[in-house]
Amino acid sequence: MKYTKVQNFINGQFVDAQGTGYLDVISPVNGVLLSQVPLSAQADLDKAVASAKAAFKEWSQTPIKVRVQVFFKYKTLLEKNLVELSKLVEEENGKTYTEAVAEIEKAIELAEFACSLPQLVTGELLEVSKGIECRTEYVPLGVVASIVPFNFPSMVPNWTIPNAIALGNCMILKPSEKVPLSVGRIAELLKEAGLPDGVLNIVHGDSKMVEAICDHPGVEAVSFVGSTKVAKIVYQRATGNLKRCLALGGAKNHLLVLPDAIPGMTAQNITASMSGCAGQRCMAASAMVGVGAVDHIIDQLVAEAKKVIPGENLGAVISKESMDRINNYITSAEKQGAKILLDGRNAKVAGKEEGYYVGPTVIDHVTPDMDVAREEIFGPVISIMRTNTLDEALAIENANPYGNAASVFTQSGGAARYVMTHASAGMVGVNVGVPVPREPFSFGGWNESRFGVGDITGKSSIEFWTKLKKSTTKWNPEAGVNWMS
Ligand code: NAD
Repeated sequence: MKYTKVQNFINGQFVDAQGTGYLDVISPVNGVLLSQVPLSAQADLDKAVASAKAAFKEWSQTPIKVRVQVFFKYKTLLEKNLVELSKLVEEENGKTYTEAVAEIEKAIELAEFACSLPQLVTGELLEVSKGIECRTEYVPLGVVASIVPFNFPSMVPNWTIPNAIALGNCMILKPSEKVPLSVGRIAELLKEAGLPDGVLNIVHGDSKMVEAICDHPGVEAVSFVGSTKVAKIVYQRATGNLKRCLALGGAKNHLLVLPDAIPGMTAQNITASMSGCAGQRCMAASAMVGVGAVDHIIDQLVAEAKKVIPGENLGAVISKESMDRINNYITSAEKQGAKILLDGRNAKVAGKEEGYYVGPTVIDHVTPDMDVAREEIFGPVISIMRTNTLDEALAIENANPYGNAASVFTQSGGAARYVMTHASAGMVGVNVGVPVPREPFSFGGWNESRFGVGDITGKSSIEFWTKLKKSTTKWNPEAGVNWMS
């Protein structure tokens, strides 16, 4: 085992979990056993919540301009440790080093946004009648929880940690049991940046720990990022316990390609979108809908996708189960009558035979009823459907139950505007394969890609991590008495 067993992080210390079981943490790159992650007990969660609750007293009373100083330092520490942090993400998640660097750079941008929060949460004040003032303040909730997936071991925890904590909350983080290592470094760097003990606590585990968090009476709010199946479970369980909840789920993102799209640029964007992070992004292109005569673009797409080489510029998928699942999707499309233009099954990387690789895969003549058209594959696979009109293409996009992202490739402003208006997705791209909004714009899908109100990052997250206090004051005797005083 390359690293020691993973520990929880409670009250500023790394401590052994009290649960009895451990799960292996395997590197998808080469199948090497990296570590073991504990299945923590209820007692571990109780301690973490108690520590967060105790820390909340002082942290919530610390002015926000002081609180964000931690994140200025944290940002600098992320920059200083970028290489080491990226290597750890590469090792535990399987994405390429270049992709891991991009992930840490995004974490840096998220920390930077948190530093700007004092400018955004100034509240409001108005003299509402003679001598009487109303003012609003954003007040932290208390102990909040963040449950995260495997595909971004650093970025997704950094979606929630900086904003929630800068806004005055104390947090319990439940990492993915598949990638539990990067969050340990996040905790260390935040401690080095001056975060007081107890403000961030990490409790490892699997679905049982998620259920315990949703049920814990000391937790005020739960944010979740992961698959739609689990997002529904978490949203129902947390809100059933009368907690605030925002649960982001899976995706099936459609790229609509019109014949006037610039072929080279479109082919490159689609390839990058479907194969980046081995297709394990909730913003990945999973379906392409060609409108009319687009064979010349599909030819270029196949040529571009052939340049994506497993083990070089294409990383591994997270597990053997994922690899088998993705391969089975390709086989099912073939059986259902689709045409495989580029086949990523049986990918092997010399020297990394025990790693989990799927090559880039382009499937043409897919029909909307096929499994590959309807379900999230979460691998480097693009399924191409064909229509005659833009409205038919939009009908396919609208009919899918998810709603994270949709993009259109065209040189027509009118067609682009039409798609922006009619796509049923929270994030829309025009000639952009991965339309992730950058800070201060917020990240969040629609439909079954998100349960709850608001988005998880940017300005929208302020509403989720705070409650509004409204105070009315009258100090002046001349204010007298009116209907509301
Ligand atoms: P997952 O839903 O399997 O796991 C996410 C978290 O939930 C993990 O911490 C896991 O321990 C826990 N969990 C798993 N099964 C559970 C259960 N039955 N009950 C309670 N908790 C459970 O997701 P994943 O495989 O880690 O991540 C991939 C998924 O996440 C994809 O569907 C992807 O689209 C989605 N995702 C969405 C976004 C977004 O912003 N919408 C971002 C990243 C990933």
